Amino acid sequence: MGRLLFVNLSTGEIEDETPDESLYREFIGGYGVGARILYSRQKAGVDPLGPDNILGLITGPLTGSPAIGGCRYQAVAKSPLTGGWGDANSGGHFGPSLKHAGYDGVFFTGISEQPVYLLVDNGRAQLKDASHLWGKDTYETEDTLEAEHGEKSKVICIGPAGEKLSLAACIITHKGDAAGRSGLGAVMGAKKLKAVVARGDKKVSIADLETSNRLREEQIADLKASGFLERFHFYGTGGHGDTSAHSGDTPVKNWGGIGVIDLPDVSGLHKDKVIANLDKRIGCWHCPAACKGSLKAGTGEYKYPAGNHRLEYETIGAFGVNCANTHVESIEMASHLCNSYGMDTISAGSIIAFAMECYENGIITKADTDGIELTWGNHQALVAMTEKMVKREGFGDVLADGIKIAAKRIGRRAEEFTVHSGGQEMGMHDPKLGMPMIPAGKRAAVMYKMDATPGRHTQDFGPYGFMHHVNNAMGTCMIIFMWPTARGPYALRMINAVTGLDRSIEELLKAGERIANIRHVFTLREGINPLKHFFHPRIIGRPPQKEGPLAGVSIDIEAQIYWNLGALDWDPETTKPSKKKLLELRLDDLAEELWPPEKTSRPIFGPK
Ligand code: SF4
Repeated sequence: MGRLLFVNLSTGEIEDETPDESLYREFIGGYGVGARILYSRQKAGVDPLGPDNILGLITGPLTGSPAIGGCRYQAVAKSPLTGGWGDANSGGHFGPSLKHAGYDGVFFTGISEQPVYLLVDNGRAQLKDASHLWGKDTYETEDTLEAEHGEKSKVICIGPAGEKLSLAACIITHKGDAAGRSGLGAVMGAKKLKAVVARGDKKVSIADLETSNRLREEQIADLKASGFLERFHFYGTGGHGDTSAHSGDTPVKNWGGIGVIDLPDVSGLHKDKVIANLDKRIGCWHCPAACKGSLKAGTGEYKYPAGNHRLEYETIGAFGVNCANTHVESIEMASHLCNSYGMDTISAGSIIAFAMECYENGIITKADTDGIELTWGNHQALVAMTEKMVKREGFGDVLADGIKIAAKRIGRRAEEFTVHSGGQEMGMHDPKLGMPMIPAGKRAAVMYKMDATPGRHTQDFGPYGFMHHVNNAMGTCMIIFMWPTARGPYALRMINAVTGLDRSIEELLKAGERIANIRHVFTLREGINPLKHFFHPRIIGRPPQKEGPLAGVSIDIEAQIYWNLGALDWDPETTKPSKKKLLELRLDDLAEELWPPEKTSRPIFGPK
């Protein structure tokens, strides 16, 4: 759309900017454009919950285009959870709506005195009073705003968890699609920004519509022929919770257990049980996979409302396998609590698993947990503690800011059980597991440790990650674009057809590398060297497990770091990208900041 919106919440000023085409050419969109803008306009060391932290919501060039999975927006800010670069990615309908309202992205600075929301309405934006929404959950907030502004308006918002500044808080849209990671819901809460509403009928201009549509049809045919579309439409990402618990993919009991031994019966997580209460299948904007679902009201022990989203793989991993819990309805209830209060399910489930292990080891007792018996697999306890956590009540208040902070509050030996990377809870894939093409122990643990947003696994690290950065920044869904034929040359043809920029694959990959570098240097500038941050040895199998599919597997993460940093031309100790690399990527300002000219002690005049 060629326009960005800048909103100062302290003064109420709203400005439009038309960035130079080079911003899009060099940084594509999404967190690429976000990183460029934050790096230039934000100083190092700002309080992540203070007025100077900039929060951006940015679409990509394929958002709202014929590209399948072209529905994403990304949220960016300095993360209150890690203290470094923070981003989170979400599907739903908001991204395309922001474009239909006339903008590629919106950036917020400052803090509002009163709760507000931003209405972006067909090319015009205004801040509006949100006092009537403050305290409401995300479902009610979305319903209220859609009733006020019409069905065609699409909303992103925070729930009470974000308002109460839980560092595990996220941003929700579509009543369950989450920009989950990095604690960015707390950044919104600190700004007293309850929601953003977008509506409009502006057309997303497509340089070559005929080619874009043809490519879409080709990709759909390819995905159909492979069975991928049907499988994902039917079961979604939650169709392999049981098998992954036993294959070694999903972490078990706070990453310390072995599925086949600690959780021998995983029939409760069978894919048909996961969709047993399904009402209808739903999807993100114009996505032919429609891999999501909306549940009927819970009628058993857990009375969640109709419309609760069906379980995703990560949520089953975090609240299920990692807590030794196979009771699917309890996971649905925990997921509903997180979605309605606005908390990241990966962090929330991982925090409960950590608390369960503390309880097992007598570090906390019923006297600490408000009488709740936090034993492994105790699904009633899991739901009760999740409710306390999202509401910041009792012991839930101790847990609500993530594992790292909870361990400090608990004290004693709690730090022994803190499985996180740089302050952020980990995605639900164990890097020790081999994949068909990757032998056991060679899977990229380095991505969990070294990515600028540590603990994430959807962008990968090192040169292998460049194409992932392109896909994310384009505004496309990883699930669809993970499909081999959707990547590389296909993505190139689609982005060129949509934007009209005649890029080569080398240019696109270079943009991915540029994004990797600027995100990383943002974190470095905050004084964080990821080589030095805490990374629990369980993640890499030190010591290795004695039984099960991961028996004997230890990851040589030092080798992974060595090879990746070498390939990136980053210093093996400081992780600083070389000056040559930064200049090659046309990141001259970063080069100047990281490599200031050496001061000479030689007098200007006088003897040589
Ligand atoms: S595959 Fe699923 S998550 Fe991805 S865009 Fe489609 S519906 Fe959304």
